[in-house]
Amino acid sequence: MNKLSTESIVKKYGFRFSKALGQNFLIDTSVLQDIVNSAEIDKGDVIIEIGPGVGTLTRELLKSAKMVYAIELDMNLIPILKEELKEFTNFQLIHKDVLKMDFSQIINVEDNIKIVANLPYYVTTPIIAKMLNENYNFKTFIIMIQKEVGERIAAKPSCKEYGALSILVQYYCDVELIRKVSPSSFIPKPKVDSIIIKLIKLHKPRVNVKDEKLFFKVVRCAFNMRRKTLWNAVKPLNISKECMKEAFNTAGIDPKRRGETLSLQEFGRLSDCIHEISEKL
Ligand code: SAM
Repeated sequence: MNKLSTESIVKKYGFRFSKALGQNFLIDTSVLQDIVNSAEIDKGDVIIEIGPGVGTLTRELLKSAKMVYAIELDMNLIPILKEELKEFTNFQLIHKDVLKMDFSQIINVEDNIKIVANLPYYVTTPIIAKMLNENYNFKTFIIMIQKEVGERIAAKPSCKEYGALSILVQYYCDVELIRKVSPSSFIPKPKVDSIIIKLIKLHKPRVNVKDEKLFFKVVRCAFNMRRKTLWNAVKPLNISKECMKEAFNTAGIDPKRRGETLSLQEFGRLSDCIHEISEKL
């Protein structure tokens, strides 16, 4: 493994890692190159990096992008990043919790936005959900995450990994698995394997549903009680038995099936039928 300058920067500033902030910094050149290559950055791109750490990935992004916004929560990393990346005029550091960021303040609709991150694993799912639900106009989202979470994101119906997270991501994006990464590529070593994945935002959601909120509500119900039949799982929607019967019938979906067997399109059909039938009432 070719080692990055991460360790010498950590030593130089006497930086202490915070487990609570999910700090496992990348030290492997080949992994860094694979992240940068899969981002396919060109000179016009605006990059948002979540959690720059001591800035090793940030430096590579800065070399090829028009602008890099890096959002870092750890106050102790702010002076290090400012010092280490001071030669770059296309760098803007934002000291904030990414979950509290209003990206519309930095995202310009004409910009070609790419999000790149070695994510802090303790907040992977909330970060992905925020970036998708708030519907920002990014083109791609290249992330390094825990391997199991990557497998859940890419999972297809009837796999044990298939769930609400697979539906959420696949509703908005195409998913590419780039490569697996072993714990020895980081300091300190995480306890789990990692994976780099690329999410390519679709121009419009994969299925055209009449009521998005209801669609995700049906999905959540189905997976909250994944061992139950759909008939029982959707009870928390509080819709009368007659209506649900008609909705399943019109959608052509057997209510005895389990939610984990339904494709995204079938969830779309079912939620549209529930929507139409409840509107008639
Ligand atoms: N990008 C660096 C690298 O690859 O070496 C560091 C990655 S490390 C896995 C995650 C980074 O996210 C850390 O720098 C951590 O302080 C930061 N972080 C953790 N929670 C955050 C949050 N809620 N908002 C912004 N940054 C956060």
